[in-house]
Amino acid sequence: MSELNLILLGPPGAGKGTQAERLVADFDLPYYATGDILRAAVKDGTELGRQAKEYMDRGDLVPDEVICGVIMERVDSDEARDGFLLDGFPRTVGQANVLERGLQALGRRLTAALLLDVPDDEVVRRLSGRRVCVKSGHLYHVEFDPPKHDDVCDQDGSRLIQRDDDKPETIRRRLDVYHEQTAPLIDYYEERGILRRFHGGRPPGEVHDHIRASLATLRLENEL
Ligand code: AMP
Repeated sequence: MSELNLILLGPPGAGKGTQAERLVADFDLPYYATGDILRAAVKDGTELGRQAKEYMDRGDLVPDEVICGVIMERVDSDEARDGFLLDGFPRTVGQANVLERGLQALGRRLTAALLLDVPDDEVVRRLSGRRVCVKSGHLYHVEFDPPKHDDVCDQDGSRLIQRDDDKPETIRRRLDVYHEQTAPLIDYYEERGILRRFHGGRPPGEVHDHIRASLATLRLENEL
């Protein structure tokens, strides 16, 4: 079977994590979310976390040299031999170049860049209502996907919190950073013919159906 080497692109709050959960279940892919990896490192007090924290607190990107090695190690691991799903990486053209060259050196390439398009005002609405389980990282939204009991995870009863970087002033900064540094990747992957666009503002189930259909077609094309 052909490899499925995927990245998810889109502004913060576009629903990348939600779609990732579904795609991982569909295709049995290892999932690497740089935001989750960095938050875990901060929580565990590792060297990586120490280097990343101040940038994350401001809503800025951590430097490429801090994050690229971490992700390339995972892409090159045994479990990612038949494919992977990256979320939150690459975030800059520099990171995209590192990924492209790294894959080339392994005789591989990206299958698709899945873009979830969502307007800025919708991003602010989504992120400011987002809550996350302190234990499992499972996501809720106070308006669109509330837990059964306020501030308690349905799955394991742990506490739900608001991420520091989901506070309104940091959301604005993250959006600016997205437009300045990450949005250029849309053209980057369009030029390479692997960009696939989806309306991230549609209901999650619908977005998921579109992505699945698009990936099924891609797989067929790759196998022909
Ligand atoms: P996320 O959960 O993907 O929104 O990431 C949260 C924060 O982690 C970002 O605001 C950045 O500070 C940092 N981060 C995550 N991924 C990257 C990356 N690929 N490059 C640089 N910084 C990142």
